[in-house]
Amino acid sequence: MKSPMWLLMKAHEVAEALRVLETDLPRDVEEGLQGCLRREGGNSREVMKAIVENVRYARERSIPMCQDTGTLVFFVRCAERQSEVVDVIRKGVELATKEVPLRANTVNPFTRKNEGRNLGRNNPIVHFEGEACEKGKISMDILARGAGSENVSGAFMLQPDLGAAGIKNIVLEAVRMAGARPCPPIIVGVGVGGTLEWSAYLAKRALLRPLNERAEDPLAAELEEGLLSEVNRLGIGPMGFGGRTTALGARVEWAHCHTASLPVAVSVQCWALRRVSAEWEGSEFRILR
Ligand code: SF4
Repeated sequence: MKSPMWLLMKAHEVAEALRVLETDLPRDVEEGLQGCLRREGGNSREVMKAIVENVRYARERSIPMCQDTGTLVFFVRCAERQSEVVDVIRKGVELATKEVPLRANTVNPFTRKNEGRNLGRNNPIVHFEGEACEKGKISMDILARGAGSENVSGAFMLQPDLGAAGIKNIVLEAVRMAGARPCPPIIVGVGVGGTLEWSAYLAKRALLRPLNERAEDPLAAELEEGLLSEVNRLGIGPMGFGGRTTALGARVEWAHCHTASLPVAVSVQCWALRRVSAEWEGSEFRILR
């Protein structure tokens, strides 16, 4: 068991990663937004100017880029001490809520009571990943998920014989139904295979891959390309004002599944794709961009 001082020091480092997460977009996403601004005209162009300016303003003043600072989702790789890592994350979230500050979003789902610290039962969300990690090293990716995006996401169990065409249709339907609610231009995370909950995990994990990196698997890469062009053909456009860019990218992660199942999850992500990576190597902490 580590000392309270150790915990507090690490928690401050998590809070710093959360400050970067909330105040500075990853370069690939910012470049995607600038590309969208160059492509669009009329009201869509005006709205993109405001978004791009908002991103710059938030970074320069170190303030959150959106009033909804989201639900925090951690993807952690570590070889040991998982319960201590959870303690550090929880303390870090509490500190960041005061210091960044983050909006107090976390409530009891039954009573809707909010304790104001962004902490609760099983929240923040921490996924420990199976990937090997060297002893003494801890690495994590963090996503901030606004309710506008999360509320229009979903998981579906398709007939297995519907195949790639069925996957495309359900994703397009989810994006069409979402319309302007998730603050487009969006990024579409898709999880295919596994089980119901695993596809949802994969759909969210897909959002961690930069927009300039295609899927390694050729079929997944083909699906990503097809989805991006078909989503953009929907014409929803920036903040629903119409135009050529409804999505900046589509990302697909997949797993093998039961022969009689085809789970598909769609994680719709707003323009504010807030992701950051961080790692400890011994006592040395690094925020990776
Ligand atoms: S959907 Fe995204 S950009 Fe829109 S309000 Fe929510 S967090 Fe902010």
